[in-house]
Parts: sequence; structure tokens; C-alpha cells
Amino acid sequence: MTTPSDSALPAAHASDKAAPWPAYVTASVAWHAGAGLVAIAAPASWPWAVAAIAANHAALTAGGLWPRSRWLGSNWTRLPAHAAARREIAITIDDGPDPAVTPAVLDLLDAHGAKATFFCIGAEARAHPALCREIVRRGHSVQNHSDRHSHRFSLLGPKAMAREIAAAQASLADITGEAPLFFRAPAGLRNPFLAPVLQRLDLQLVSWTRRGFDTVRREPSNVLARLARGLAAGDILIAHDGNAARTDDGSPVLLGVLPGLLARARSLRLVAVTLPAASHPRGDDAVAPAGAAASASP
Ligand SMILES: [Zn+2]
Repeated sequence: MTTPSDSALPAAHASDKAAPWPAYVTASVAWHAGAGLVAIAAPASWPWAVAAIAANHAALTAGGLWPRSRWLGSNWTRLPAHAAARREIAITIDDGPDPAVTPAVLDLLDAHGAKATFFCIGAEARAHPALCREIVRRGHSVQNHSDRHSHRFSLLGPKAMAREIAAAQASLADITGEAPLFFRAPAGLRNPFLAPVLQRLDLQLVSWTRRGFDTVRREPSNVLARLARGLAAGDILIAHDGNAARTDDGSPVLLGVLPGLLARARSLRLVAVTLPAASHPRGDDAVAPAGAAASASP
């Protein structure tokens, strides 16, 4: 897996990118046109033209169903090289804010001097605006995870997809006072219409390096093992405060995972920072957590 270069960043600087679609999608459009022309010029070849288009659609669909793929556009699966050099990692926490879970998550992060990025759902943020503001007040970051977290998100057309993302963007900016710079698709699933929407809204797509499946796994030790296996500078980890699975005693799994994960990060001299802080090439606004080996050199 390659590390994103500085040129891949950051959302706030993305507006000067030339093309809304990556070369692969542009080539797909040309592929359709070429197949059509062949079918017109040589009508007997139409089954081949149809097969060529079907194969292309299958490849585009696969790219959308593979959360970490870059076929459909820029996609952070790791932090940029400059952040990895600073020994930074990003803990990202999705599907909140959730009043039953998020406050305890914030306390755990504070206790370990760590910062995190919360990919919030627009509708949940509107339901719990004070909690959303509290996330930011305590030095963390709120980013865009769509407005309703529809399980049909990857089936939406361009207009509906734009509405879904723009509505969350407007709500989150209004509530926190800071416009999100990053977007994560619900369940990581998308389609070729997403890239132009993100470009227009100056949002950078983020997936993850590793996930713990904490919406379905009920044992914190199991989730922790998945997240901590091979933990290294530049990793982006995904966990959940909203939609979190519960342990046998009813506790949200993330609360049993974070202490061990943050202790492991500290033992490796890794610093948990927000995505906006990690995106900064010079680290000027990187938040240095007190006592968390913030000054550790690579
Ligand atoms: Zn989600």
C-alpha cells in the first residue's frame, strides 16, 4: 500500500485539481463511446461491444464496493507521509454523536491525552448539537459521514448524493462553526458519482488502514487485536460510537477497546491526532497531546 503523497491533500487545497474524475473513470466513458462506435461500424460485433461495456461496469462497481480502492478517485487509506514521519496515527470514530456513548469516549481520550476524528451523521448532529460542539471544544474534529447514513448511499444518483453530503456539510458547519474537510461514505461504499461531489464541496474521501468491526464484534479483546495488529505510524483506524455493538454486560465495545489501544499507541511512541492536524504538512496546527510522546522523533 502506498502512502498518499502531500500532493494528494488536503481537502481544503483540492479545488485546484483539474478533473473531477480519475483517469480510470474518464477512460471508462471513452470505453463506452468506443464500444458504441464499433457496434455501429460493424453491427455483427455488437455482442462484443455489450460484453466490453458490461465488463467495464463490473469493474466500476467493484471499485465502489471495495472501500479502500482508489479506482473511483482520491481516497486516504493512510495518513500522508509527513504525518507518518511525525509518528502520527488517526483514530476515527463513526456514526455519532451518540449521547449514550460519545461522552464516555471523550473522557477516555482526555485521560490518555489523545485526539480523534468523529465522522458524524448530519441528522444525529442536529439531534445532539451540544454534544457535537463538545467534541470540538475538547480538541477533536467533526467530519462529514453523510446526512442520514442511508444503506442505499452507494446506489444514489449524482443529485441525491450531492444533497445527502451537502446537507450534512451545512449542518455540521453550522453547529460546530467549522466546515468539514473530510468525508467517509456510509459503510465505505460508493459509486462513480461521488468524486465530483466531493471535489465541488472541497472534501477529501477517507477510508481506513484497519478496522475492528466493532459494530458486530462483541468482545473488546477481539476488536482491539484487529486494530492493534501491526499498528504503525500513518495508520488510520476506524471505530464506532454510534451503532456500536454491546458487550455481554451491555457496555459499548469501543469503551473497552480505547484504553488498550491508546496504551499500545503510547508504547510505540505514536501520537493520536485529528485528520486536519495530520493533513498539515508542517504540523503547525497539529495538536500535541500532553504526555503522549508528542515530541518523539521518527
Ligand atoms: Zn458509518
